[in-house]
Amino acid sequence: MDNIYDKYHISHIINASGKMTILGGSRLSEEVCEYMKFGANHFFEIKDLLNKTGDYLAQLIGVESAYIVNSASGAIAQSVASCISKGNIQDILHPYNFENKKREIVICKGHNVDYGTPIELTISLGGGKIIEAGYANRCTLEHVQSCINENTAALIYVKSHHCVQKEMPDIQSFIQLAHQNQLPVIIDAAAEEDLLKYYKMDGDIIIYSGTKALEGPTSGLIIGKKAFVEQIKKQSLGIGRVMKIGKENILGLVHAIECYLQHQHSTLEQQIQRLEPFNKKINQINGLSARCVQDEAGRLIIRSEITFLNGNALEIVQKLKEGKTKIYTRDYHANEGKIEIDIRDVTDHELDIIYEKIATIMKG
Ligand SMILES: *Cc1c(COP(=O)(O)O)cnc(C)c1O
Repeated sequence: MDNIYDKYHISHIINASGKMTILGGSRLSEEVCEYMKFGANHFFEIKDLLNKTGDYLAQLIGVESAYIVNSASGAIAQSVASCISKGNIQDILHPYNFENKKREIVICKGHNVDYGTPIELTISLGGGKIIEAGYANRCTLEHVQSCINENTAALIYVKSHHCVQKEMPDIQSFIQLAHQNQLPVIIDAAAEEDLLKYYKMDGDIIIYSGTKALEGPTSGLIIGKKAFVEQIKKQSLGIGRVMKIGKENILGLVHAIECYLQHQHSTLEQQIQRLEPFNKKINQINGLSARCVQDEAGRLIIRSEITFLNGNALEIVQKLKEGKTKIYTRDYHANEGKIEIDIRDVTDHELDIIYEKIATIMKG
């Protein structure tokens, strides 16, 4: 095979930033690639493949219903469309018939985030009219309740590090409030790790990205209550068509989830053990201080947090991306002089390269 990087004149990437869509999500295992290869080389009745793989996953995960789509974004748009059309073919085929007013989707203002695209745009794509509850830094259940009326079609809760974390309703009470109002809740858990948590909290439609924690190909996973998932399936006759998933990615995701559920995840201790020698070396560099920190959204991820005591972290981040191999770090706090090294998709050899490059930059 050609050298892809040379052929298209593109850079080598070391991904120490986490599961970033702009870098292509996850590194896929050989095993997952084999399932994808089988998918690529064979034919299936796609509807049957989607139904049966969904049933298989539902049983494997231990939920009522599951369904594979092209991405978490596609899942959000189709879930919204299905909460509005409720399986009615006229509404499925005319998702933007605004004479039907029952299309309001209530979201906490602090959850109306941009994950690469604004979630409000994804909701609009499904025909939803976004109604923000509360304020950027504070939203109570009372705020949410005051937004619910006869035009409300669903509520959406975004569980993500992108969101405002404080002073927002907890997910359990949010779900209860929706159900007290006889309304469904869509949960955007795109990058979350626990496939049962929100289902057990009685969430109706729970959405995961296939290529984040699950380490699958570009895809999305919907789990939830059968009645809702069946309505979402019908979107393949409507907006679902412009966001269809390929057979190779369907098979790849199913196997990625099998691996995900079987493999013991690396424990917090194991991650710390891997990071400690790296931190120790970083701490010997003048002007740097490194320590292990846990993911700020509470996921079981340990990262190295490097503080630049007198340098400009933003400048370092820029320099790490210079040269033949670009190093991407996690830079949400670079403006406060801190960057994070996420090692989930970094090999030991790449971790050495990261150290060398930081050391070289700091020397001069
Ligand atoms: C990544 C992400 C998405 C989109 O997931 P895709 O599978 O890339 O479409 C949606 N919501 C949140 C909160 C995300 O982090």
